[in-house]
Amino acid sequence: MRRPLVAGNWKMHGTRASVAELIKGLRQLALPAGVEVAVMPPCLYINQVIQGLDGKSIVVGAQNCAVEPVQGALTGEVAASQLADVGCNLVLVGHSERRLILGESDEVVSRKFAAAQSCGLVPVLCVGETREQREAGKTLEVVGRQLGSVIEELGVGAFAQAVIAYEPVWAIGTGLTASPQQAQEVHAAIRSQLSAENAEVARGVRILYGGSVKAASAADLFGMPDIDGGLVGGASLNADEFGAICRAA
Ligand code: PGA
Repeated sequence: MRRPLVAGNWKMHGTRASVAELIKGLRQLALPAGVEVAVMPPCLYINQVIQGLDGKSIVVGAQNCAVEPVQGALTGEVAASQLADVGCNLVLVGHSERRLILGESDEVVSRKFAAAQSCGLVPVLCVGETREQREAGKTLEVVGRQLGSVIEELGVGAFAQAVIAYEPVWAIGTGLTASPQQAQEVHAAIRSQLSAENAEVARGVRILYGGSVKAASAADLFGMPDIDGGLVGGASLNADEFGAICRAA
């Protein structure tokens, strides 16, 4: 019922030349029709990627948007309306690198989520615990708070047009992947938190796993009942590896 989604988060990687190479590799991939595939390049290269992937069924998204949805006086930021204008469909909000390195609060994340939706973009809300929080047994509490703050601000109905990505911080870029069981436990908790408010929204929302997803680990993760695809960082910079992950979904 839920169409799997595999999204490649390129983070702050790339040059015009390496992006052109990656586009070439992506164009050559045989992608499964039942899976939605997306890439999220750095903002500067979004136009290049949209043009380069023309005619290929890969959706293009952004990694961040401003708290203000409409263009205006906000130096250095990019508005969700501008992302929509150039042809983006999705945008990450609340990635842990932004929460932890740039200090984005739950409140800022909710505003970005709302800004994205007001411009017709689908927000991909990232949630996840640090290693210390997991070791202290606080995983479900932390993830529940991150999700709960968006529900509280915008209502559970907002998740009818959104995606959630569970990304344990300790698994991001570390080569340590959560086991399928560890991930499933959190995904099920996320779905049940939504279900307590609206069962239909909970059933429909796609919850992706992210954190060192590789072709070798993807099938077992994506085989779990509440894991609906992946948010892939490092491995999405290699077209063949990314293609293999998409085929595992
Ligand atoms: P990773 O990154 O796959 O390189 O761990 C995932 C992410 O941060 O979205």
